[in-house]
Amino acid sequence: MTIRNNWTREEIAAIYNKPVLDLMYEAATVHRQYHQAGEVQVCTLLSVKTGGCPEDCAYCPQAARYNTSVKAHKMMEVGEVLQKAVEAKESGSTRFCMGAAWREVRDNRDFDKVIEMVKGVNTLGLEVCCTLGMLTPEQAQKLKDAGLYAYNHNLDTSENFYDDIITTRTYQDRLDTLEHVRNANISVCSGGIIGMGEGEADRIGMLYTLATLPQHPESVPVNALVPVEGTPLEDQPKVSVWEMVRMIATARIIMPHAMVRLSAGRVRMNLEEQALCFMAGANSIFAGDKLLTTPNPGYVKDQEMFQTLQLRPRQAYKEQLV
Ligand code: SF4
Repeated sequence: MTIRNNWTREEIAAIYNKPVLDLMYEAATVHRQYHQAGEVQVCTLLSVKTGGCPEDCAYCPQAARYNTSVKAHKMMEVGEVLQKAVEAKESGSTRFCMGAAWREVRDNRDFDKVIEMVKGVNTLGLEVCCTLGMLTPEQAQKLKDAGLYAYNHNLDTSENFYDDIITTRTYQDRLDTLEHVRNANISVCSGGIIGMGEGEADRIGMLYTLATLPQHPESVPVNALVPVEGTPLEDQPKVSVWEMVRMIATARIIMPHAMVRLSAGRVRMNLEEQALCFMAGANSIFAGDKLLTTPNPGYVKDQEMFQTLQLRPRQAYKEQLV
């Protein structure tokens, strides 16, 4: 199978809508061609600056305008973050991602701190990743020079549905940041969330945008909304596992090289449901009992899952950027 960047929406829709067993079989076949089946990347995500965000992402408890239980917390100290990174490594994570609830990076002392964090985490032999909002080309280069391996910037949903979820920035802003990250030769992590009230065409639309970028993202997180009280999406119903399976399998087939990350929402899935997602081509998870501010299965539960399913953790830097 060749890597394609010229997918059409119709082709992606045809894959997405295949009978589930055919879809899973095809995705599992592609998965085995490009990845070691049963090998799963374990990442830790730490919120280094929490809450108080000026943006209005309808799913996010960190937006200052929503009344949620999340307490704003200023930027953590570098030493504290490095200690968390050591702990993440000791519990088996190979990628450490630091998130700050910012609209965009500003060239100030907090960014200088992030640069120190990136340098420190890099020396631990972990793949270091950040998610800090919008970036200029110069800021992307500064992060790269500090040793940043990957940058997360999710498209969240389709271009059409975007305004229903976020009004404080545009889809094009997102794409511009992804381009700056790519141009700085940083590995790109970009995906989205399902269960926000979007239609099937929006799910396909988001996959279409990702799969027709000049180069596919190296990581594609697929999140199921975890509704948080106080956010506009607090009453959204849970998405079924089959919707997650369709998203994951379609992403796996159209972007075969990507690490497809089963991200938020895992806390509401049982072991069997997660196993279906791995069969559909997911090969990365977030570890730790919190995903920024929302709950996630704890270390012990994940250890049990790895044992029961006989999964193997993937080593760091397995596929270096060329
Ligand atoms: S998702 Fe990020 S940008 Fe949006 S409100 Fe939350 S912290 Fe801010």
